[in-house]
Amino acid sequence: MMKVLVSGASVAGPSAALWLGRAGHDVTVVEIAPKLRQGGYAVDFRGQVFTTVLARMGVLAELRSLQTGGNAMRFVDASGRQLMRLPAEFAGGELEVLRADLSRVLYEHSREQATYRFGDSIASLREHTDGVDVRFESGIEETYDLVIGADGMHSVVRRLAWPAEQVLEKHLGYYVGGWEVQNTRGISGDSLMYNVPGKLASVGADTRDPELAQTLFLFKSPVLDYNRRDLNQQKTILRDQFSGLGWHVPELLEALPAATELYFDSISRVRVDRWSTNRIVLLGDAGYGATFGALGTGTAVVGAYVLAGELAQAHDFRTAFDRYEARLRKAVSTTQDGSRAGSFLAPATRFGITARNRILDRPFFLNQMLKMAQNMSELIELPEYTGLTYSGLQHSGQPGQLVEE
Ligand SMILES: Cc1cc2nc3c(=O)[nH]c(=O)nc-3n(C[C@H](O)[C@H](O)[C@H](O)COP(=O)(O)OP(=O)(O)OC[C@H]3O[C@@H](n4cnc5c(N)ncnc54)[C@H](O)[C@@H]3O)c2cc1C
Repeated sequence: MMKVLVSGASVAGPSAALWLGRAGHDVTVVEIAPKLRQGGYAVDFRGQVFTTVLARMGVLAELRSLQTGGNAMRFVDASGRQLMRLPAEFAGGELEVLRADLSRVLYEHSREQATYRFGDSIASLREHTDGVDVRFESGIEETYDLVIGADGMHSVVRRLAWPAEQVLEKHLGYYVGGWEVQNTRGISGDSLMYNVPGKLASVGADTRDPELAQTLFLFKSPVLDYNRRDLNQQKTILRDQFSGLGWHVPELLEALPAATELYFDSISRVRVDRWSTNRIVLLGDAGYGATFGALGTGTAVVGAYVLAGELAQAHDFRTAFDRYEARLRKAVSTTQDGSRAGSFLAPATRFGITARNRILDRPFFLNQMLKMAQNMSELIELPEYTGLTYSGLQHSGQPGQLVEE
């Protein structure tokens, strides 16, 4: 049994903590935020691979009870007239939940088997033959057998342990922001989407609390220089980008100064030559992230399962890390390539907006896109690991088949 440090408590981190804690490892999760982060739009799982892993984790039923149902997306003009509508299954996949709900459920299911430490971050890492010496920003020092970087697109573990030339962070030309607002306009049902060239402003009701709604804003921009820990600076960027626009934009921006949680990031893609060093391994967005529209959440959950499964199966962690990467790299690269959310949701020109609306208004093209999204998830071959404890499942009697109890 090993002493494992996981950096990041959003989706990948708690998923890893759940499996590794259940397997008997001594797991600590460190999260830079003072508490579990709220916020974020709905995230979706498409395809049986993902729901099978969630079932094996024992969280599928609970997530089903929390699912948003996936709102249809209604693209409108400034007067509210419908231009095009994408059905709920386009945005929502098979199972759609708020990112914050997903994170909370994973946290609750893992916290008995892991120690969570909030408001701290790794300051330095020193890897040697017997372990990894870690110094935290709080001053605490500790040695671990393994360190897992599950701390997102801008991973501190990756920055500290990987040479810059082995990491490719590619900005895909857009930024995304989202925050919670009061649902003063009584929006329900479809999420409303409003475009001007290179920008999208949208708002959708919180399906469980009709008093609340969630915004999602996207804008085209070259790389911006800002402090990721400075919420006010990010709010100013959003306000400047969208000021002067009509529709519901002014009132949605009005709620921005009071927002305590803001999701703000560039739409970008991370590729790392190798996902592990000797005792340090990357998981989820930290290793193979692509903000938005590239199954990042599903891949993080499956990644945690495969990583823990290979650790349970292999005789040594190096073999496990190699097998984890070998199993997932190809599928992950393909899903990353599908990440064109920026230009799709906020085409750069008026012509681009009209062309997208016309094409997707036709059922044939829409069905083609839905099929493509579905096929992506089938790229990952899901092993069954005898060394892991599956929750709420039993063998069906058929080799390799598990069913929900
Ligand atoms: C608040 C929030 C809102 C989001 N909203 C959306 C959304 O609306 N739509 C969407 O598609 N995706 C969203 N995402 C991203 C989505 O969760 C991920 O793409 C995906 O689920 C993979 O998860 P991950 O755990 O690998 O990375 P992330 O979800 O990015 O989680 C990384 C975690 O690491 C923490 N962290 C960062 N730096 C450090 C550090 N130095 N030390 C310790 N911890 C650190 C972060 O606070 C975060 O909790 C959001 C992420 C967050 C954190």
